[in-house]
Amino acid sequence: MAVYDSFQRPLRDLRISVTDRCNFRCTYCMPKEVFGPDHAFLQRDELLSYEEIARLARIFVNLGVEKIRLTGGEPLVRRDLPELVQQLADTDGLKDLTLTTNGSLLRRQARALKDAGLQRITVSLDSLDNDVFQRMNDVGVPVETVLDGIAAADEAGLHPIKVNAVVERGVNDHTIVELARHFKGTGKILRFIEFMDVGNTNGWNMERVVPAKEIIERINRELPIEPATPNYRGEVAKRWRYVDGSGEIGVISSITQPFCGDCTRIRLSPEGELFTCLFAARGFDIRSLIRRGATDAELGEAIGKVWRVRADRYSEIRTEATVPLERVEMSHIGG
Ligand code: SAM
Ligand code: SF4
Ligand code: SF4
Repeated sequence: MAVYDSFQRPLRDLRISVTDRCNFRCTYCMPKEVFGPDHAFLQRDELLSYEEIARLARIFVNLGVEKIRLTGGEPLVRRDLPELVQQLADTDGLKDLTLTTNGSLLRRQARALKDAGLQRITVSLDSLDNDVFQRMNDVGVPVETVLDGIAAADEAGLHPIKVNAVVERGVNDHTIVELARHFKGTGKILRFIEFMDVGNTNGWNMERVVPAKEIIERINRELPIEPATPNYRGEVAKRWRYVDGSGEIGVISSITQPFCGDCTRIRLSPEGELFTCLFAARGFDIRSLIRRGATDAELGEAIGKVWRVRADRYSEIRTEATVPLERVEMSHIGG
């Protein structure tokens, strides 16, 4: 049974953040000054258990969800993640199961994730320049570790592999062509993401955004590309293919070319709150319902209600005035 929101957008994608913790402190996501040693992360008993997550996933699939992405924080820091993957992979009717990771712990886990039923993977890597990358992750993890994680995913068969790079003016934008050149012809799909005003802690301002148009122009000057048709309606990344046939890149332009009209995503936080927009301040507490003994039918009804009244279109109405508004942190609900 499909459910539609107030703009007739169906519920199709579920992003599950399994932890608010991370072993990186990317300056655009979890700045050290805010996420320091005294930061209060969620406690274990506050997190949804794997059984609770898998049960919700089944209910979501009955409501029309076809695709699930695991995220965080860093999903690979949550203990025994392959156990969750296995439970989700058993969900009847689920078409796509994937995960976004910073790649630093992937060498150890790629095979187990694949064996558990993970289909493909997205790895974040913002630059191949070690100084730039270490300044961005702010914990000193070298590029080499992430490249090795990507290689491990490749060997395990987690295909196709996508690589996400957030582009921030004056920080890594001078290294984007090098990144494109590296992945060109490898079958891995590099996607550039405009630096977004998610959360309230990353000091975002428009001057630090490199518009998609400029990203495309800079790549095209060195490595000629042309627009490619979207794979499906609502695809977040605009696709561009290399003119010489050696693959494609994507650009996610939430700031300069918003795509709210096709947004079919819902997000589940680690402690069981549902967010209908990446830029929302509050979520709907589904964990309380579960722990009070709600039936599957009651949970389905509650989720349906949340989706039917949804009217989010933040990126289309973003102005200077909306930027300081309170909203959930990216590291909490996972992009
Ligand atoms: N830790 C994992 C990772 O980094 O891949 C998963 C969670 S992370 C929040 C998901 C994605 O959000 C990453 O690709 C990251 O680069 C992106 N992201 C985080 N903060 C962002 C921001 N301010 N603007 C744009 N993308 C951002
Ligand atoms: Fe961690 Fe991912 Fe945020 Fe970086 S972007 S701090 S790796 S959650
Ligand atoms: Fe979807 Fe909200 Fe992003 Fe618009 S701003 S695309 S509604 S998550």
